[in-house]
Amino acid sequence: MNKILLLGAQHGNELLGIQLYEHITRKRPQMLPFVTYKTGNIQARKQNVRYIESDLNRSYTGKSRTYEERRAKRILKYIIQNKFDLVLDLHTTTCEQPPCFIAPGITPGIEHFIRASSITRIVQMNHSIIASSLIGNCVQAVSIEVNRQEAKTSVLLDSLCDDIERYIHGDTGTAVKTIYHINDLLKKTEVTDEEAATLRNFHRSPQGYYPILVGENSYKKQTEYLGFKAYKSQTIHL
Ligand SMILES: [Zn+2]
Repeated sequence: MNKILLLGAQHGNELLGIQLYEHITRKRPQMLPFVTYKTGNIQARKQNVRYIESDLNRSYTGKSRTYEERRAKRILKYIIQNKFDLVLDLHTTTCEQPPCFIAPGITPGIEHFIRASSITRIVQMNHSIIASSLIGNCVQAVSIEVNRQEAKTSVLLDSLCDDIERYIHGDTGTAVKTIYHINDLLKKTEVTDEEAATLRNFHRSPQGYYPILVGENSYKKQTEYLGFKAYKSQTIHL
């Protein structure tokens, strides 16, 4: 039997995970034997903030100095002890963009779910920030980013449930996906506010890159970068 972990609120103010689990409980209870829900950043969730001391999704190789570095160790241990086949790391974003996966690549641990999913965009994270993130440290984990408003809709939640059910039943079929290769951050110093306002995520910019997760988001407030940029996209058949 496939065991799936829904990891919610790695960023404490992002509710896709809990919304999906509540949707399953209410509308798709037949899925409950297959899924477990866990809150990533418990303290940040309580305070409804992104993180307390360090970004949890940049804390998986830390030395247990911060609350999040200690929490990351517990989460990895929990995943190993419970032998989950698949970990869905569920994020919401204020960026205007369609849902996407973020993954180190189409690796064996996540390929079946990606095939089963109706999400077509895969952001392949080649930048070094992946090293300290969950998906850089857990081969069966994949991140999903959904616009915060869209994440509240039953259309989106039903679609994710359909993806999970197809995965559970091994009904993955074939799929056409587009991979966006990320090697660079889009730094705030690179673009003026006027230029930033014209960027559309997943649409090639005049500068030749595809902006991804660019917007008035948490990256903007708490880091030096606006989002990511991909210079190469690739259509693949799985
Ligand atoms: Zn997030």
